[in-house]
Amino acid sequence: MERVNTGDVDSWTSPAAAKRPLGRALGAEELALNHYELEPGDAFGFGYHRHPDQEELFYVLEGEATFETEDGDVTVGAGEAVRFAPGEWQLGRNEGEERVVALALGAPADASGADIRRECPECGERTPTEIERADEGSGLVTVCQECDAVTGQFS
Ligand SMILES: [Zn+2]
Repeated sequence: MERVNTGDVDSWTSPAAAKRPLGRALGAEELALNHYELEPGDAFGFGYHRHPDQEELFYVLEGEATFETEDGDVTVGAGEAVRFAPGEWQLGRNEGEERVVALALGAPADASGADIRRECPECGERTPTEIERADEGSGLVTVCQECDAVTGQFS
């Protein structure tokens, strides 16, 4: 058996105030379990995205998350959960005034290979995006794959 306390797990760099990889800390092999805290304006992901092979579930513990989906925006409040099948486009944000606390579960655990679209001011539209290490420090940047512009910085 493995056991972990959320407060002991270091947060990963992301568009959320905190993203704690509980599943990884537990050594989970088939399932990803991430604990998120989103301040107003934060997002779960780096852009509107889909995972080709991974299904992803979100369970909101506090606050209200707004998910952009292929069927429009869906608000998900405390005590509610949503599932995105492999291949479904989605992005959850905190558009409220309270903090959002939520769990994200993904299976299989490997979330690499996602298609990500992010608004590029240079291109004037959402374009394919890659996440890369920043040149300096430990942060991450999002890079437009059409014009190489950096569209976001995260530390
Ligand atoms: Zn661009």
